[in-house]
Amino acid sequence: MTLINLIKSVLLKISMPQINIDSSYGVIIIQDMNAVHVDEIYAKIFGYESPESLLSHIDSFLDLLPVDIHKLATQNYHDIVAGKMYPRGHTFTNIDRNGREFTVFSVDHLIQWHGKPALQVTVIDLSVLVEANERIREQDLMFKRLITDSGQGIMVHRNFKPLMINDACVKLLRANSSEQVMGIDSVLKLIPHQYQVLAKQHYQEIICGNTVGSTSVVENICFDGSTRFFNIYDNLIEWDGEPAVQVVIEDVTDKVQLEKELAYKATHDELTDIFNRSAIYDWLDKHLGNSADLTCFLLDIDDFKLVNDTYGHHSGDKVIKALADIIKAVIEDNQGAVGRWGGEEFIGFIPTLDMQLVLELAETIRASFERLEFKSEERAFNVTVSIGISEAKQCHDMKRIESLIKAADKCLYLAKSDGKNTVYISDLAAI
Ligand code: GH3
Ligand code: MG
Ligand code: MG
Repeated sequence: MTLINLIKSVLLKISMPQINIDSSYGVIIIQDMNAVHVDEIYAKIFGYESPESLLSHIDSFLDLLPVDIHKLATQNYHDIVAGKMYPRGHTFTNIDRNGREFTVFSVDHLIQWHGKPALQVTVIDLSVLVEANERIREQDLMFKRLITDSGQGIMVHRNFKPLMINDACVKLLRANSSEQVMGIDSVLKLIPHQYQVLAKQHYQEIICGNTVGSTSVVENICFDGSTRFFNIYDNLIEWDGEPAVQVVIEDVTDKVQLEKELAYKATHDELTDIFNRSAIYDWLDKHLGNSADLTCFLLDIDDFKLVNDTYGHHSGDKVIKALADIIKAVIEDNQGAVGRWGGEEFIGFIPTLDMQLVLELAETIRASFERLEFKSEERAFNVTVSIGISEAKQCHDMKRIESLIKAADKCLYLAKSDGKNTVYISDLAAI
């Protein structure tokens, strides 16, 4: 292997395995710190037209070197020539006579020149390598900045241990610093307990390559204890030579809350805050398969037109709301659902056929409502409600539900006919 090839291979191994250098080399021979021989390429590297031009411009070899290394270079020369030091390779940066900064790798050789010891120095111009190195460094910085300055939160973790986090992610997770995030053992701490098993399964799916680049909206507990919703995109990457998961996060809490509000509004009655008619049908749809045993309550406020006419619609609204609160508390306590069926009519369902319990619940509603005292312009008044109840087994389809509601309606009619403020329950066999 020639010297130049050796240098090349050493350089390639040490610094830039990806860059192939193809450079000529220059030679200078120094004796007693004077340049006694210089070749063409050496002269060119140092900014001279020819060896003669270089030699005529300098008094000593030191004139070619930066002042701060003069002492070291002289010491090296004497130590090598005296056999106290083995010749070595050096990298140094210099400025040529035209102001160009260049970096060379030099290798010293002890030789005999006209019968006396001398130092032969072979230099390779590394400027191309240095420039390439600089470009790579700049590119590295650019990519780093792209990640650290990104508005999207970016985190890399392996088995939930954070390996990298950018500033945006620190902010989104409401942490004080990236050190605080990097200091935790596991980001599972940020995931509510009920979702942790799912999160672990999802991690395995990604690490095994079964799931590629998945997006989901998740609930997280932030460092300040607040709960936020994040749209997360996670993907398998290689980090320090090992598989890891890269997570890109975006705070969508406002959007999720808005969607929840809209969904709530779409399913709840504004005045009473209970289910509207269509939400009741959705609830029934979901429960048809589960418990097929259902009890239906239909409730209608007695003489409500009179309440409105006497005390005004505003008072009427208060009465409707008060009854809704009572029904909701009783029915929902029994795994049921309650909705506003019409103006001052309500419907409730509970998954039971326990007649004793059903009658007790209905009586609780009726009596609690009757006891309530309303006030309008200092006048106190009470209102009553009539309740029709029906029960049925095997409520597996909507047709049967409709029959159940019809039967409850019949009972409500009977309660009204029987003087109101009472509860009627249908004959089971009739349904
Ligand atoms: P009954 O005892 O037979 O039920 O007699 P009623 O007067 O209650 O008769 P009905 O059930 O037909 O009356 C319903 C009244 O409820 C008519 C309507 O003006 C009133 N109403 C419907 N929705 C509202 C509401 O949101 N607020 C108020 N204040 N009144 C309402
Ligand atoms: Mg009515
Ligand atoms: Mg009524």
